[in-house]
Amino acid sequence: IKILAIESSCDETAAAVVVNGRDVRSNVISSQIALHTLYGGVVPEIASRKHIEKINQVIGQALSDAGMTLDDMDAIGVTYGPGLVGALLVGVAEAKAISYAKKLPLVGVHHIEGHISANYIENKDLEPPFLCLVVSGGHTHLVKVLDYGKYEILGKTRDDAAGEAFDKVARAIGLGYPGGPKIEKVAHEGNPHAVEFPHAKIVDGPYDFSFSGLKSAVLNYLNGCKMKNIPIVQADIAASFQKAVTDVLIGNAMKAIDEFGMDKFAIAGGVASNGTLREGMRAACEKKGVAFYHPSPIFCTDNAAMIGVAAYYDFMRGQRDGLDLNAVPNLKLGER
Ligand code: ATP
Ligand code: MG
Ligand code: FE
Repeated sequence: IKILAIESSCDETAAAVVVNGRDVRSNVISSQIALHTLYGGVVPEIASRKHIEKINQVIGQALSDAGMTLDDMDAIGVTYGPGLVGALLVGVAEAKAISYAKKLPLVGVHHIEGHISANYIENKDLEPPFLCLVVSGGHTHLVKVLDYGKYEILGKTRDDAAGEAFDKVARAIGLGYPGGPKIEKVAHEGNPHAVEFPHAKIVDGPYDFSFSGLKSAVLNYLNGCKMKNIPIVQADIAASFQKAVTDVLIGNAMKAIDEFGMDKFAIAGGVASNGTLREGMRAACEKKGVAFYHPSPIFCTDNAAMIGVAAYYDFMRGQRDGLDLNAVPNLKLGER
């Protein structure tokens, strides 16, 4: 089964060809990061326009990289939510047009299901059930993957997502957008024990997260430094913040592993490319004898290969969407 996958939920225009679910033949990503950096974050209207400009070229490249044409495809997979509505609509309209013109089955994919499925690409042995921590720009979900397409959300963030916290703190300490990779880079030169930032625990939701208090603590610390004329050491703040975030993520994940007796654990989403988080998770899993999985960085942040993987399993379960498929900006995981 050959699937052409399309992803346009945020600021990456992406297309990929995936064969039989896990064999990625091409993975083309046109990132708009440089464009949005100017404004310190993603501007939805600019994102939609850029997707329209790029999408045909990106799809053409994905097909030619795979050495295939549309006539070789068996289905079209496309992200239909969650994400920016205008951005999603570009991919959805494109997928519907190709589906109609080439009489190809259409499969609408949940973006977060895509992030989770990225783990299948390089870990050929990974199969549900397993526990997955999704840490991206808009989501922080601790999810039990019961089966392909079957999820139980154990906990989620009550306020900011982990990636959002990275982006906001990066802006506050003058690193700019996107914050995750920039914080990780300067944190290498910093002392993670320089500042003790709070580790929020949610009393009535043991697997829930909260990162807005941590963000405020960083802002308060910065203000305090200014008032007392203490020099701000960017690298120390970055390292200390990164440690606080990873400690909380690792703590909750390990609690869930113990509680539910999981023997496989995966991480997914843009923040999953963070080296400190990966190494911390790896060490914690090793101690418990739990197998640890993660995608390569290129499959952690937004891409269409992961959408092709998810589309394959949806397709094999018989999921088909019609030309009435619409973008759903606040689509929940496990919903259709
Ligand atoms: P969502 O998937 O929730 O809709 P999104 O698609 O915008 O949101 P992703 O593309 O999965 O999110 O990930 C982007 C996020 O990952 C950004 O917040 C970015 O700062 C963060 N990120 C990327 N690389 C790193 C890194 N090395 N360390 C920490 N955070 C990172
Ligand atoms: Mg992005
Ligand atoms: Fe994403």
